[in-house]
Amino acid sequence: MNHESLTPGTRFGRLRVQKELAKDKNGKRRYLCLCDCGKETAVLENNLNKGHTKSCGCLKRQDLVGMRFGRLTVIALSDKRAPRGKRSVPLWECRCDCGNITYKATDILKNTEVSMCSDCAPLYAAKKMRENAGYVGGTQLSRIQNTKPDSNNASGIRGVYYDPRSGKYRARLRFQKKLLNLGSYENLEDAVKARKEAENRYFGEFLDSIAKQGT
Ligand SMILES: [Zn+2]
Ligand SMILES: [Zn+2]
Repeated sequence: MNHESLTPGTRFGRLRVQKELAKDKNGKRRYLCLCDCGKETAVLENNLNKGHTKSCGCLKRQDLVGMRFGRLTVIALSDKRAPRGKRSVPLWECRCDCGNITYKATDILKNTEVSMCSDCAPLYAAKKMRENAGYVGGTQLSRIQNTKPDSNNASGIRGVYYDPRSGKYRARLRFQKKLLNLGSYENLEDAVKARKEAENRYFGEFLDSIAKQGT
């Protein structure tokens, strides 16, 4: 059992032994190793000898450097990280076609339809909207942005109607082909308020979801 320590310079996969470290709490030999990628890492002698550890971890990570995703070209693996539940994932440094540098995780790069920087995303979303003739997911964006009241609307406020039978004001909102009832109100002001709140909630989230790109 009492064999010689590993000689500095001995290679295991991408790792080269630098020097022996203090033994771990179980009395096992450990070495500081330099990985070909430039990272230093402490490894148990057992894991080196048995071939369990062959890199600092970079071998197991897929190398995306040089690959293109949408408008992004991956330049390098950065030391920035993004949270994923209780864990965190490394971020790739990417250059957007516009010249901006942005940082994205592997899952985002692989699952985003067209990856780009956060400056390009809203411009791209706007272009997409025009391409789709203003229709996205059943909602016409020109209608969202249009605050003019409907012509045959007795209240004068878009989406708010006076109902002569009940004598109340009713608020409605058409969103993604569904007509949402926002309730009946004694006062015009309350009906208008309900309509405004619903507009902000539904349209705001909707426009956010179009422009949003994760890290
Ligand atoms: Zn490495
Ligand atoms: Zn860009």
